Amino acid sequence: MVRKTDSKSLGRRDLFKGAAVAGAGMAAAGIFGGATPAWAQTPVPEEWDEETDVVIVGAGGTGLAAAIEILEAGGTAIILEKSGVTGGTTALSGGIIQASETPLQAELGFEYDTHEDHYQYYIQAAEGIVDPELVRVLVDNSADNIAWLEAHGIEYTSLSGVNPIPSVDPALMQALRIHAPRTTEEVPRGGAVHGLALAASAEALGADIRFETPATALVRDPEKGVVGVKAASRAGEIHLRARKAVILATSSFDRNEEMARSFSPQQLWAIQKGGQATAITSTGDGIKMAMAVGADLAGMGGTIGYAQPGIGAAVAGIWVNKHGQRFVNEDGHYAYKSRAAYQQEGSMAWAIFDDKVREQAATVLGSTTDLEDEIAAGTVTRGNTLRALANQLGINAAQLQATVELWNTDADNGEDNLFGKTVGLQAIDEGPFYATPVYEYNLGSCGGVKINTSAQVIDVFGEVIPRLYAGGMVAGGFIGPYYPGSGTAVASTVCFGRIAAQNALAEEAWE
Ligand SMILES: Cc1cc2nc3c(=O)[nH]c(=O)nc-3n(C[C@H](O)[C@H](O)[C@H](O)COP(=O)(O)OP(=O)(O)OC[C@H]3O[C@@H](n4cnc5c(N)ncnc54)[C@H](O)[C@@H]3O)c2cc1C
Repeated sequence: MVRKTDSKSLGRRDLFKGAAVAGAGMAAAGIFGGATPAWAQTPVPEEWDEETDVVIVGAGGTGLAAAIEILEAGGTAIILEKSGVTGGTTALSGGIIQASETPLQAELGFEYDTHEDHYQYYIQAAEGIVDPELVRVLVDNSADNIAWLEAHGIEYTSLSGVNPIPSVDPALMQALRIHAPRTTEEVPRGGAVHGLALAASAEALGADIRFETPATALVRDPEKGVVGVKAASRAGEIHLRARKAVILATSSFDRNEEMARSFSPQQLWAIQKGGQATAITSTGDGIKMAMAVGADLAGMGGTIGYAQPGIGAAVAGIWVNKHGQRFVNEDGHYAYKSRAAYQQEGSMAWAIFDDKVREQAATVLGSTTDLEDEIAAGTVTRGNTLRALANQLGINAAQLQATVELWNTDADNGEDNLFGKTVGLQAIDEGPFYATPVYEYNLGSCGGVKINTSAQVIDVFGEVIPRLYAGGMVAGGFIGPYYPGSGTAVASTVCFGRIAAQNALAEEAWE
């Protein structure tokens, strides 16, 4: 029997307005912020409060894409959202998305790009960790997903590429695949453009979004599979019956220290030492709920990490570890560099530079700082000699000296013999010298519930958990030990969100 609750009467139309723009104020964890849900498997209730074809958990990028797909196909859905706004981290993102064989690529001269090259690039970057079939699906659907997004109000106007990754054949990365949406003065952030467009489409379709109503558990029937969701509504605990299926769209465990400790030491390092830019509601709820009904995990351990030294190192300078050695191409792909910095002894690395770099950085980065404030705050260290600098930081001074000498020779000869860096080849030869630690600015954790190419969640025995789907960053298996390049995460939200929706809706309703 279906009993109505009043959790629906939240002024849906009003809450949609400006949702993604307001995404920055995700503080809307509101009345449930900080509550600890009971992550136990929930018995099938004798009475359901409401019912629908598909319950979607999360109204971020994945959830909105799934909702649109279901509503356009004539199905019904209830979308549970923990915060007070739509968009999630997607609305806070750059909104850029990787795709191959698209009309924009052809228009801008990259008509030679192929899904196969795109696929091989992902596979080579993944170091054998990914499920190749998921990568194939992500790539093969990428152009179609761009077309789908354009049909839903997003216009892609420019392309960019990924900085070098040592394990990837450069030929596979020549075509620019990162599609950026047109932004406006009112909506200058690509992710907000994306989030607002999808929220508007969902609203136009009459999407039923329950804000500040976090799902707290999945209801799994021993025979039928996942038949509903338990949630914490304003009116109290509710049980929503999903006639066909449940889709998890809650993103990863970006801000959950405990889960990071268990699954991703690099994510823990990022949380504790770096900065965090994801939605505050991104605490791994979907992964835990899925684990509670037997889900397996995949792709755990990587991060969307933006190695972020202080002033200057983005332009030139070198990075060294505590032994005074360089360890990576400082102009390489950001997440690859992040992992490399994290992997150094003590997870410590420093960017080393001199006044030339500081002055250039002031121009390039728009900074006018003379670094006195940073030095006083301890985020930048200065030494008149390399030895003095090294001694202050506990870096091996003799090795630092040797490293800088080799770097200077290579810079003068125009060739980085160690890591093949081609940008910022400039000697560090005049004191004072500076160092600033390299930490990860974190855009999210990677890895989540294991899915197959139909976006069905797989259990620890390798079996499909009936009627449970997942898409976007709550799922894992298509990203390897580090994030392979901008635009992969948002691509996964559209790709697996839509696939999850199509297959969830195709399920036969249970009685
Ligand atoms: C600053 C920044 C820039 C980025 N730029 C890019 C980029 O340009 N391109 C790219 O590909 N990637 C980018 N990323 C990464 C990317 O944005 C995210 O990984 C991706 O958007 C996540 O999408 P999602 O749909 O999985 O989750 P989200 O969009 O975060 O949606 C998850 C939703 O689930 C809700 N939720 C969580 N728990 C519950 C619960 N228990 N019940 C109900 N709802 C719940 C959340 O509140 C949220 O609304 C960026 C990340 C950041 C932080």
